[in-house]
Amino acid sequence: MSLPPQSMAADNCESLFEGAPVAIWEKDFFEVHEYLRSLGMDKSELRAYLLARPEAVMECLRRVRVVSTNYKARSYYGTNTEEQLIAMLPHLADKSTEETFRDELLAFAGGRTSFDAEIEVRTLDGKHRLVRMSLSILPTPERPWSRVAVVFTDLSERHEVETSLRASEWQLLDYADTLQRTNEALKRVNSDLEQFAYAAAHDLREPLRTIALCSQLLKRMQSGKPPSPAGTAVEFILDSAERMEAMVSGLLAFAQSIEPPEGPRTLRTDARLALQEAINNLDLAVREARAEFEICDLPVVAVLHTQLSQVFQNLIGNAIKYRSPDRPLRIIISCEPDGDVLRFCVEDNGQGIRQEYQEKIFGIFKRLHGRQIQGNGIGLALCRRIVEHDGGRIWVESDGESGSRFIFTVRPGNSGAQLRS
Ligand code: ADP
Repeated sequence: MSLPPQSMAADNCESLFEGAPVAIWEKDFFEVHEYLRSLGMDKSELRAYLLARPEAVMECLRRVRVVSTNYKARSYYGTNTEEQLIAMLPHLADKSTEETFRDELLAFAGGRTSFDAEIEVRTLDGKHRLVRMSLSILPTPERPWSRVAVVFTDLSERHEVETSLRASEWQLLDYADTLQRTNEALKRVNSDLEQFAYAAAHDLREPLRTIALCSQLLKRMQSGKPPSPAGTAVEFILDSAERMEAMVSGLLAFAQSIEPPEGPRTLRTDARLALQEAINNLDLAVREARAEFEICDLPVVAVLHTQLSQVFQNLIGNAIKYRSPDRPLRIIISCEPDGDVLRFCVEDNGQGIRQEYQEKIFGIFKRLHGRQIQGNGIGLALCRRIVEHDGGRIWVESDGESGSRFIFTVRPGNSGAQLRS
């Protein structure tokens, strides 16, 4: 059966009202209007009166009649029926309801036909929701204020999102703060450790020298005498003192490796010159080993000259020390760009380093060879410290038998320094 057009429109309106996504109330303020009129006051007298007498405001509130509510309005208060809601409303009014209502009355009494406020609604089950309340008086000249439309827009969800965003912001700031403090603490610990290593290494040298000198003296006193346990013990002491001296010197070099000895730090070092200096320092060993070099074009880099030279010297020195007896030593030094950084490679055809040791050898005092090859196990640790201090990385690649490729990254020299072609 089809409905007459008018009734369909009325039905549609009703379902629109009931199913609206915002809470809508229709209220009748006519009795309130009459009460205020009976007081016979002008605007400012009425303001003073209502401010002084909360009971008058409550009297007005009692005179408001709820005409109808939609589903959303009822659900705000957690009620199922309009009757239940109307019965409970007086019990939900508190100090802030009273103040907002007083402002509403004064706005309407002053001739305004609309009023907006953000209010907190207390539901029947005690929960609080933040809403924007908008009131509009519909024109009804014969019964003033008898049709007042009240619309609630829920701000709680937005408020919750904003609150949780603010909380996340605070949390992030908190993390950043903790990170910074941890960083500073780490720097302090690092610098304390450096000072400790330096002091220990420096102060240990003195007694060590004395031990070495005395054992040399004892050794000389033993010379020409037949072998004896005392002579052997002196040999051991001397040997140990020399090894310890080498380790302490290495530790000292390690502790001092980062601070430049003098002058301001330059960010433009010609890698060719640093390499040349390293090879010159190793001249005797290079000639003895008959090492052949292949040197590719090298750029200007942002590392201190002395430190880059030190890295080259350690890597080339090792290539010489750990060469293979089966083939003539060949060392290739090259460099190529890798994104923002430069990747240097010192490659040899020596004994190679097995996979399981490729990380360990960068640790302090870590050696794979016995005392037949001189060394204190500090060289690669020093290289790593220098390279990492400048923000780079160093590692080794090797098949464990036919040579090693030591690779390290550094930043290019700052005024547009690039690989020379
Ligand atoms: P050191 O040479 O004084 O022992 P390093 O820290 O320079 O100390 O090297 C650590 C160890 O790594 C060496 O003892 C050696 O066993 C191994 N190693 C370093 N470089 C090479 C290389 N080019 N070829 C083979 N082994 C190497």
